[in-house]
Amino acid sequence: VELSFVRWLRDRAVPHRQVPLGIGDDAALLAVSPGHELVVTTDMVMDGVDFRLTEVSPRLVGRKSLAVNLSDIAAMGARSIASFVSVSLPRSGGEQLARELYEGIFELAAEFNTSIAGGDTNSWDGPLVINITAVGEAPIGRAWRRAGARPGDQILVTGDFGGSILGKHLSFSPRLSAAAWLAEYATVHAAMDVSDGLSLDLSRLIDKSGCGAEIDLARVPISGAAVELGRSSGEQAIEHALSDGEDFELVLAVPPMEAQRLLSAQPLDVPLTCIGQFVKDAGLWAIGSDGRREPLSPRGYEHRLE
Ligand SMILES: [Mg+2]
Repeated sequence: VELSFVRWLRDRAVPHRQVPLGIGDDAALLAVSPGHELVVTTDMVMDGVDFRLTEVSPRLVGRKSLAVNLSDIAAMGARSIASFVSVSLPRSGGEQLARELYEGIFELAAEFNTSIAGGDTNSWDGPLVINITAVGEAPIGRAWRRAGARPGDQILVTGDFGGSILGKHLSFSPRLSAAAWLAEYATVHAAMDVSDGLSLDLSRLIDKSGCGAEIDLARVPISGAAVELGRSSGEQAIEHALSDGEDFELVLAVPPMEAQRLLSAQPLDVPLTCIGQFVKDAGLWAIGSDGRREPLSPRGYEHRLE
């Protein structure tokens, strides 16, 4: 890649006190706070699979490709430090595309205090592919995992669910500040972010935790978009809320007293709702309006290999 482009990148990189050396050397240097461990996640998105450049601006593609990574950092109860961006550009129009892409990436990076500290930019005769690796930190042994939910813990969620395809999948805010507050001031036994659908992701969390979960359907926060989508899809809004992907909200296992405290205090920059509880009986259960409990099949988005 041309030197002028690397310079342009370097000039835009947001300084971070934990990144003494970023773009422009053979590798970056990150400073880890004493008593902390690194939290690392990576995610790849491809034109034609995860988005279509014919429908979405490169700026929003860039924003989203970083946002999904920061959502995973938040899901671990960690703080973000730096992100590394690797891009395969289509040869024709590649540089203009790259600049627009990076505009979206830098904008979000500044908002959520992650330094773009390195990466790689290649071109080829294929479609646009972006891989971002985000690095954060958490106090040693304190990062949230999917394992750890206990029977009796309440299922708390941030925000609302469903219909993200109507816009939120591009514009969502990774829940880093909510996670930072909770990691510091609350007891969280397990957590994850909802990327593939509330019921599917919750089923993954209980698999790891070795327990079950009861969702009280009436308490699931349904987004306006899920209601709107339901009008044209022929499915109920609650179905969209349970199975649509890309909500990028947090699901948390919180002990009952703590949950009560959080629900009445609402200390986050996003509403916190209890949608049910973790139970001993394995599997996912739905509590209907009549109070009866029935098995709930997890539904959501899964990448298929053939
Ligand atoms: Mg995740």
